[in-house]
Amino acid sequence: MGDSQALNSSLTCCLEEDLGGRLDNLAGPKDSAADVCWVCLEEDLPGHPLVYPCSCPRPVHPPCLARWQLHSAGSKEETICRFCGQCLPDWKTVLKPCCNEAEKEKATPTMSVTFNGMIHHILVKGGPDGYRKFVDDIRTMFGITEELDMHLAFDCADPLSGQLVKLNGSGAFQAAVHCATISAAKRLHSRQLLHLQRPRFQNATSPFAGLR
Ligand SMILES: [Zn+2]
Ligand SMILES: [Zn+2]
Repeated sequence: MGDSQALNSSLTCCLEEDLGGRLDNLAGPKDSAADVCWVCLEEDLPGHPLVYPCSCPRPVHPPCLARWQLHSAGSKEETICRFCGQCLPDWKTVLKPCCNEAEKEKATPTMSVTFNGMIHHILVKGGPDGYRKFVDDIRTMFGITEELDMHLAFDCADPLSGQLVKLNGSGAFQAAVHCATISAAKRLHSRQLLHLQRPRFQNATSPFAGLR
């Protein structure tokens, strides 16, 4: 419990520090020289023109804003601009993989859950039912009774860059499931590509046999 508390505060500090620097950009007067993304401070990027998703005077790249929202998963800043209060676009529609919807449907997202040195792999799904099942599974597997509060922290892969993102609190569960689903769909996609590229090995002993 102590560790997860410490992680919580260090993550919060890091985000607030980042935000402080960007705040000046957002609050400053608008001029053409300042038409840069308020997150990464770059101009238009190939395939990612700058947009104005809310009433704020500064533009942003959709993936930069989506990553910002992912880092805020579970708080109101995941869906609402903290500066102007307007609703933001759903980050999950921006941070999605190149693989198709069918692969996403077939993907079986899992999470590795560690507690007191024990580790279990759990199949997860989104939605309120998915969260209740996740919590029930964890309590059963690790023998955690109802009287004990659980502090959840998720280590996720950013769906686009693959970089590690640390999310804290039960409110981040749905975001973590989205990241896990994308990772599972990517694994499925690369296994299918491998089979397409090496059809002659189909009947031989496959190095991936153990993963099926
Ligand atoms: Zn940007
Ligand atoms: Zn705004």
